Amino acid sequence: MTHVLNIHTSTLHKPVDEEETGLAVCGSLRGVPQARTQFVSEAELETYDGVARCGNCFEGTGGY
Ligand SMILES: [Zn+2]
Repeated sequence: MTHVLNIHTSTLHKPVDEEETGLAVCGSLRGVPQARTQFVSEAELETYDGVARCGNCFEGTGGY
């Protein structure tokens, strides 16, 4: 599973797609420059410190 990370705020979101825009399902990355977002895999996440998962993107999905 690929996530999209807002590097600036260290917040993890679900991407609307895994190819292009880096926009989040919750819409909070709208207007955020792509230079401030990065696609990360679940494995790559372990290399980031202090990343918080977005409640809007991940709540209700279970296991988070
Ligand atoms: Zn989100």
